[in-house]
Amino acid sequence: MAVKVKYLERPKLTYKEKIFFLDFFKGMKITIKNFFRRTITTEYPYEKLTPPKRFRGTHAHRVRDGKEPPSFNVLLKFMEINEGESRCVACYMCQQACPMPSLFRIEAEQLPNGKKRVIRFDMNLLNCLYCGLCVDACPVDCIIMTDQYEGASYNRKDCVIHLDDMSKRGKDFDDRRYNEPDRIWIDDKTREKLWGQMDLNTISFWVFSTLAILSAIYVIFGKNIIYTVLSLISTLIMVSGLFFTMGAELVGALQILIYAVAIVVFYVLVISTVPQFKGKTTDGKFMLFSIPVGFVVFLELAYVSIYGVWQSSTGIFDEKVLSELGNAKAVGTMLFTKYLFPFEVASLILLVAMIGAIILGRKKEDVQEA
Ligand code: SF4
Ligand code: SF4
Repeated sequence: MAVKVKYLERPKLTYKEKIFFLDFFKGMKITIKNFFRRTITTEYPYEKLTPPKRFRGTHAHRVRDGKEPPSFNVLLKFMEINEGESRCVACYMCQQACPMPSLFRIEAEQLPNGKKRVIRFDMNLLNCLYCGLCVDACPVDCIIMTDQYEGASYNRKDCVIHLDDMSKRGKDFDDRRYNEPDRIWIDDKTREKLWGQMDLNTISFWVFSTLAILSAIYVIFGKNIIYTVLSLISTLIMVSGLFFTMGAELVGALQILIYAVAIVVFYVLVISTVPQFKGKTTDGKFMLFSIPVGFVVFLELAYVSIYGVWQSSTGIFDEKVLSELGNAKAVGTMLFTKYLFPFEVASLILLVAMIGAIILGRKKEDVQEA
């Protein structure tokens, strides 16, 4: 019989697609979306994920603990199973359902009282496909698959699991996760973390940091003094937004109050009250002085930032304590206990500076002799 070959024609591009490169932009959209996604790589074995409850990991046996289905109580008439022992009633249903039945070794013995007792339940996990059919087949909800996925070993013998291990593993699994809802992932937050959904904080971080950098560039290179001051305000507000996204709401609020409002108001006053004020951004005389000072300030800020990152994992205020206490309380506690003396000294210096500024800035009144 001759084989008929059917040729399929590639759909032709529409004029819209040809002119506006729509496919190209669709492709770029996917690329850009993935560009901002968080990485989902985990550094195993240093980082270990907790899989969802329904993960098909190493097998285990549930034990007799009062939570058995009604079918177990019916079969219990024929079985000798004490509290805390495996629920297995040696019905072999799991073995029957398994595509690799030879991996099971199930044995039960007859007791003098006429009841049966399971004495062996071995599973050779080297032959297991982790399909879960055995779990579905069990009539007494005994055999389960747990969240344990570290089954590698140096010899084949260790890949065979036995009745006692299975009961222990089943008890441990139920203690940890019995009450957890049966969903695919542990919770939405973890799922989003794993699959790189961008949360509001990440988006805010990118928006605030981009605007802060753009505004700061205008502050340096802008020629119009009014726009420069407005850009400075914008930079300070964006930086305060960054503090908020990082959970440092106290520093963010202080940034707005002190810098974006109080300090900038001074700048505006100076500009508006001194008519001959001119921004001398490129005066060599000022540059000679400002470049080394700027470099020293940069070094200081870099040192403080690096030291801060290094120190952030030490001390009593770890992430958990901060989330419970709140940022303002933590800063207040440190300021008025450990750093009380430097805090008071700084207040005194500021007070002296303020009084000095008032005295120096006071206008000499002309005394008119009558
Ligand atoms: S998971 Fe599948 S292959 Fe493994 S023991 Fe159960 S039924 Fe058999
Ligand atoms: S199906 Fe359940 S009760 Fe039956 S032998 Fe397997 S584990 Fe035991």
